[in-house]
Amino acid sequence: MIKNIAVIGAGLAGTTVASLMKGNFDVKIFEKSKNAGGRMSTRKEIPFNFDHGAQFFKISTIDFKNFLLDLFTQKVIEPWKFRLAYFEGQYLKKIKMIEDEDGFFVGVPNMDSIIKYLSKNCNLILNTKIERIVRKNDKWSLYDQNKKSYGLFDWVILSLPAQQSLELISNNISFYSLIEKIKMKGCFSLMVGMKKSLNLDFDAALIENEDIAWFAINNSKPGRMNKNCLIINSSYEYASKNLNTSKAKVLKHLLSKSSKFLNYDLLKSNIIKIHQWKYVEAECSPIENFFIDHKEKIAVCGDWFINSRVEGAFLSANELSKEIIK
Ligand SMILES: Cc1cc2nc3c(=O)[nH]c(=O)nc-3n(C[C@H](O)[C@H](O)[C@H](O)COP(=O)(O)OP(=O)(O)OC[C@H]3O[C@@H](n4cnc5c(N)ncnc54)[C@H](O)[C@@H]3O)c2cc1C
Repeated sequence: MIKNIAVIGAGLAGTTVASLMKGNFDVKIFEKSKNAGGRMSTRKEIPFNFDHGAQFFKISTIDFKNFLLDLFTQKVIEPWKFRLAYFEGQYLKKIKMIEDEDGFFVGVPNMDSIIKYLSKNCNLILNTKIERIVRKNDKWSLYDQNKKSYGLFDWVILSLPAQQSLELISNNISFYSLIEKIKMKGCFSLMVGMKKSLNLDFDAALIENEDIAWFAINNSKPGRMNKNCLIINSSYEYASKNLNTSKAKVLKHLLSKSSKFLNYDLLKSNIIKIHQWKYVEAECSPIENFFIDHKEKIAVCGDWFINSRVEGAFLSANELSKEIIK
């Protein structure tokens, strides 16, 4: 009999698991947001689009390359060719031209196009935050924020950041204490949409020893229709010191820092938004590529098992899928 599997979280790890396992199992993915994508989401603020999570990704393994072959053929993934500046505070150290062969890849026309492509034939249930999972008579039941139940499942796969996984499981699960040890760093993403082009000498910048650590002109990525969408990420250090500061205050501070950095008053922009990412990168990763409890039929995967990057999310999900199919 075909087994029912519930995947919680529709980021790259969750959609990878679902797309690899849907031939062997009846798989449902549950996602709390209104769109799939997770930390590869694109925020739409008409008429601007912001890839406010993952900025680009690298491919270093054959498995990941093969998994993405179709997306390359369909031009859902393309290399990003751009001018990358390196700053020490306000001081420009160098500008490097990133060419196709450097392999800085992005989704086209948006970062979330990759997740949309992968999940298009999957059974995806959006706007559904799973708040409780209960095991009874060898089956799992899932309950959402309105206490609605979604039937019975043989397996549950959590494809969530460590802390969010921990919220759903209890300490009788074999890997509970291993997840407890994982701490993840956060950051803020400032999104600025403007009519004017800034005419800079660079398209993206890595900034050291500043409250802002990354700057990118989103529309320098291939296939972007929108003009002048800027993404500015705070440093981890600034974010950790301002976890509980009001968003308005953080926005004001990062906007002022960015205006100074660009030598242009960003207050004149058309759209200014801020997003807080609580879980960007694990401080250290487990030695395993996923955790699985065969007795309780529950497993967890995600980028934080490997390197907290896009490829890490895939590799963890790929290894776990192989183990469950086996
Ligand atoms: C600002 C930022 C910049 C980054 N830059 C890069 C980069 O340049 N290159 C790179 O390789 N990587 C980058 N990353 C990391 C990359 O985005 C992640 O490694 C990858 O997207 C993680 O995928 P995932 O599926 O493991 O987790 P996620 O994408 O976090 O997926 C988890 C999903 O679960 C959902 N969810 C959570 N709780 C529940 C619940 N209870 N019920 C239902 N759904 C739930 C979430 O909404 C989310 O969609 C960046 C990340 C951030 C935040």
